[in-house]
Amino acid sequence: MNELQIKDLRVEVEGKEILKGVSLDVSKGEVVALMGPNGAGKSSLGYALLGHPGYKVTKGQIMFKGEDITKLPTNERARKGLFLSFQYPSEVPGVSTANFLRTAMNSRRDKKNPIAVAEFIKQLKETMKMLKIDESFMHRYINEGFSGGEKKRAEILQMAMLKPEMAILDETDSGLDVDSLKVVADGINKLATPETGILLITHYQRILNYVKPNRVYVMIDGRVATSGGPELAHQIESQGYESIKVLPNDEVFA
Ligand code: ADP
Ligand code: MG
Repeated sequence: MNELQIKDLRVEVEGKEILKGVSLDVSKGEVVALMGPNGAGKSSLGYALLGHPGYKVTKGQIMFKGEDITKLPTNERARKGLFLSFQYPSEVPGVSTANFLRTAMNSRRDKKNPIAVAEFIKQLKETMKMLKIDESFMHRYINEGFSGGEKKRAEILQMAMLKPEMAILDETDSGLDVDSLKVVADGINKLATPETGILLITHYQRILNYVKPNRVYVMIDGRVATSGGPELAHQIESQGYESIKVLPNDEVFA
């Protein structure tokens, strides 16, 4: 059974149809890349999957672990193990990274069994070390004054601490220099266990040199135009998105 199944999803933003019938699946243990030009609707798909109220599903279904979650509020989707890292992470002044993470982790645990503080700090320190994030960041407000690369690492830190069953990573690679890209890619690879599915949204092929996808989908103008293996990402890198032939839905999923 596919962990995440998106079936013919149509989504409107401010009365305008952005997603025009998107279908795709991600199973446990898979890394699925979703590529596409700017404005194709990739981030909108991420928001719709997490249930952002501004992204209205007008048709289709989102199934997660066999359950229809299309109408569930965001916090319940997160509690079930769905995670979205943002293309543009927000700053949250007044909330420290450590407090936020501990609260988020506890919200997924039994109320009577919150994580012990010492255990939490140990895990946090280990994970920060893996992601080459300075320990002092745990006391800093979420993303406040972080550089672009630090924000992207902080998103992966959230993922690493929360251990979601399905992670949607929206352009976690954009704006990173090569060293940061490798750190982020290493982090993603460590989290890509047989128990976790990853939908890796990216504009560029570059991160796929480090994180190997099982499949590649290309989204153009609000729908999945074609699918393939890593060679599709290389075609995009050498010939651009203009070279992608838009297939009818039944041929994309043949
Ligand atoms: P991508 O992530 O592939 O670059 P987006 O999902 O960000 O694409 O955008 C797809 C289209 O939807 C764009 O035309 C964008 O302007 C529009 N869009 C996305 N979010 C909003 C919003 N909150 N308000 C208005 N238009 C939006
Ligand atoms: Mg985007």
